[in-house]
Amino acid sequence: MAAKKARAKQARTALKEYQRKRDFTKTAEPSGDAAVPSHDRLVFVIQKHAASHLHYDFRLELGGVMKSWAVPKGPSVNPAVKRLAMEVEDHPMGYNTFEGTIPQGEYGGGTVMLWDRGTYTADEAGPSDDVEKILRGEYRAGRMKITLDGERLRGSWALVRTDPGPKPKWLLIKHRDEHARRHEATTEFDTSVVTDRTMEEIAGGDRVWHSNRGAGSGRARPARTAAAKTSSQAAKPMRATSVRSIPDEGRVLLPWHDGVRVLAYATADACALIAQDGRDVSGDHSDIASGLAGLASRAKKSFIIDGVIADDDRLHVIDLLFAGDEPVVEQAWTDRRAALETLFRRRRVAGVALEEVLEDVDDAGQLAADHEWAGILAVDPDAPYSPGKRTRAWLLLGM
Ligand code: MN
Repeated sequence: MAAKKARAKQARTALKEYQRKRDFTKTAEPSGDAAVPSHDRLVFVIQKHAASHLHYDFRLELGGVMKSWAVPKGPSVNPAVKRLAMEVEDHPMGYNTFEGTIPQGEYGGGTVMLWDRGTYTADEAGPSDDVEKILRGEYRAGRMKITLDGERLRGSWALVRTDPGPKPKWLLIKHRDEHARRHEATTEFDTSVVTDRTMEEIAGGDRVWHSNRGAGSGRARPARTAAAKTSSQAAKPMRATSVRSIPDEGRVLLPWHDGVRVLAYATADACALIAQDGRDVSGDHSDIASGLAGLASRAKKSFIIDGVIADDDRLHVIDLLFAGDEPVVEQAWTDRRAALETLFRRRRVAGVALEEVLEDVDDAGQLAADHEWAGILAVDPDAPYSPGKRTRAWLLLGM
């Protein structure tokens, strides 16, 4: 607890300059007052920002805030190219889901696009090392070696401080590895990694996209209504029958997690996460909601997914009820699963996990023990999805 409080205090102090520069009655940017969520892995985000000069804001989580650099030409995936990165004030973690427009005349006025996001770690860190401690040391020393695991940028990078001064200058350089390329990623990808919108589309939107606010209430509703209208059956998740053992044959096995069971109603514009008691919990899980809306946008397809939001703050996908223009509840599980895999193929969504299907009961038991699953769901691969019903098509073995 003490460490958590110290971290929160450290984050508040670090954000003073960020807050001084902004008038939160005029901009929809986050104030940074929200609590810093705890999670296992450090996150990074890159925002393309058309302010007075176009640049890419490169942000790394460290000490409960986002250390930030403005990179005028954007990161280069070519190791032969060194990119100037000017260190700017720390930003709040809540900024990581910000995409939209900052009013003209305000600090940083212009359009902001979420260009990439993911997790990162220290190249030097061993399995039992305190990654943040290593990174803090490297940051102070002005020489960071990090590996990005983003949707667009991957592999090892160096950040090297060349001018300490009051406005420190750094160089951002791609290390030589299998993720190095000759072409420019900033040219290859010119739309939002979350909503697939261009800068023009973001600028032209009549609403400021802000997944931290509103996603839970007003804006998320249309998604639910639109999808639910097309599939009125899809109101309640299917239920499993508890068993003491699962058959050796004829079932496919999925991990079962404790948490909040939700149906996610996603369109390209918004995603509503509706819990079993009808509560809209999108506002509490804005990252998942915006990730799924982004997926719907990239796949050019609305969908309804059944899943559990577990303690790791991820949505663990269970099943698919609706995809594109049609309900798929009548289809066999095998076909629904194939549609799910198509939807997620080559599209990683932060905060969403589509786990592997197992067939061997012993393997599943071993994995369940190793990874502390709440149970194993044994599914009849030929059965349809029965919304709101408890059937023997789904058997649940609690651990
Ligand atoms: Mn900026």
